[in-house]
Amino acid sequence: VIITQGKYLASAVKPEQYPEIHRKEIVFIGRSNVGKSSLINSLTRVNQLARVSSQPGKTQTINFYEIGAKIDDDPGRKDFYLVDLPGYGYAKTGAQRRKIWSRFINEYLLGSEDLQFVCQLIDSRHEPMASDVEMFHWLVEHNLPVLVIATKVDKLSKNAVAKNISQIKRSLGVPELDVLPYSSVKNVGREELLNVIADCLLE
Ligand code: GDP
Repeated sequence: VIITQGKYLASAVKPEQYPEIHRKEIVFIGRSNVGKSSLINSLTRVNQLARVSSQPGKTQTINFYEIGAKIDDDPGRKDFYLVDLPGYGYAKTGAQRRKIWSRFINEYLLGSEDLQFVCQLIDSRHEPMASDVEMFHWLVEHNLPVLVIATKVDKLSKNAVAKNISQIKRSLGVPELDVLPYSSVKNVGREELLNVIADCLLE
């Protein structure tokens, strides 16, 4: 895919606020501070499309970005929505807040007819947290296609990346899972992720 542009379109906490025009949706989810905004910015190469937050857990809306896209030899446009979900598992988020979070996120994830797949971001430096494992199982149980992306791999040696990715697979209970290593700083994984997106836009 060649990304031709990216712009913020809408924020939503309920279905009435979702964009009226339907397009394929590619969803990003992860714990606060996992590097989701940085990944969105590096993937689209639109500076500050998603805000890189100094205050984790602050964005509590579903954000829709309209991404202009072309597939290399295809003359037609393949525009899609990149959907940024609020970070989960933030320690300071109280139980009440978590309940509200899960209600409107579940409503979106289970209700969208346009959702193609969910990119679940997990920090490559640590073992997955309980909330990561829970989220992964929830997505799988609800038959949502998941691509697990291990973020910030530039912070580790090659050996450590391999070791930690094996640990991520074990923790998630799927040793044969494909996990995509990603670095927003070093542009690792960008081409691979764009290829996965291209495949789904061509379907
Ligand atoms: P979000 O809360 O998931 O949106 O995370 P951010 O994108 O705001 O990133 C959280 C912190 O991790 C910031 O200080 C980023 O600069 C840093 N970060 C994000 N991605 C990377 C990466 O690929 N490599 C490195 N070294 N740091 C990263």
